[in-house]
Amino acid sequence: MSYTIEIQKVAKSKVEDLDFDHIPLGTAFTDHMFICDYANGAWDTPRIVPLELIPTHPAAMALHYGQAIFEGMKATVDTHGNPMLFRADKNATRLNFSADRMGMPSFPEDLFVEGLKQLVALERNWIPPQDGSALYLRPFMYADEPFIGMRAANNYKFIIMASPAGPFFTKRIKLYAETKYIRAMAGGTGEAKAAGNYAAAIRPTEIAKSKGYDQVLWLDAVEHKYIQEVGTMNIFFKIDGKFITPERKGAILDGITRMSVIDILRHKGYEVIERPITIDEIEKASNNGILEEAFGTGTAVGIAYIQEIGIDDKTIHVSDKSPVGLDVNDTLNAIKTGKTEDVFNWMIKIE
Ligand code: PMP
Repeated sequence: MSYTIEIQKVAKSKVEDLDFDHIPLGTAFTDHMFICDYANGAWDTPRIVPLELIPTHPAAMALHYGQAIFEGMKATVDTHGNPMLFRADKNATRLNFSADRMGMPSFPEDLFVEGLKQLVALERNWIPPQDGSALYLRPFMYADEPFIGMRAANNYKFIIMASPAGPFFTKRIKLYAETKYIRAMAGGTGEAKAAGNYAAAIRPTEIAKSKGYDQVLWLDAVEHKYIQEVGTMNIFFKIDGKFITPERKGAILDGITRMSVIDILRHKGYEVIERPITIDEIEKASNNGILEEAFGTGTAVGIAYIQEIGIDDKTIHVSDKSPVGLDVNDTLNAIKTGKTEDVFNWMIKIE
């Protein structure tokens, strides 16, 4: 289906104000946003307009009952400076999975991708060209009907904002395996990218940070022994030459970096197994000297190497001798910047 997106441009871009060598984290926004309103059972005409404040009624249902979901992805430029999107169709599918779980209307997936393409085309001067930098894109949807009462809202807004992001240099991170608070269980909302999941993670993350760790390693809700994911990343371990990652089973976000890393690892000839993984198994592998590598995967950082995992008063050490994750990260970045052949057909070109 083809859509007409109304475009209203700013009189003057603010891009000259941005210092591309020192991009502030999460506070710089491009000139425009894509916006579409939902009312009377249908999405209205999609628009790209100057980024501006949105008047909100204090009874807007998202503020009270939490119908709010989001996505995160990046636009990059190839070696000729042409903008590209990485697997945006997967974000569209995941947004609608989240929408369904939260009782929200689905958004047309081809319009999601078209809206991103037109917004990025308009904001192409905002895409930082440096290696590892990108234009971060934040599609989100929330209930803006003013109503006090517990039911699905009738009115929603779907918006895409864009924010330039500098390169992420991550040191090896330290994880705190959380045995009191939980993030998700099958039947809950952990598989959805629902705003409330992140709200519930804030306090445990603060506690982990106050103990000197970088992120929380989330364990299952019942036995507190099966590993789920880490902070806002999925997790991989390399034990005795093979890669393992927790099978998702209804409680783990379907990370687009995760699915891409699995494909790249298999393409490079490694075995990757999705199965339940306990923290005890990881501790034993470490003690036996066969925990060769562990890393988190996510849009923000690509791959973040793990140095150690704290659980109760013990520390599980991860070897730093295996560089496979770094090699996978390089491959992922080379695909995203057109420096290597896109053998998986992941990139979406923007004219
Ligand atoms: N898990 C959680 C809880 C996340 O918020 C994210 C970031 N979206 C991920 C995993 C990684 O997903 P992706 O690779 O799609 O960024």
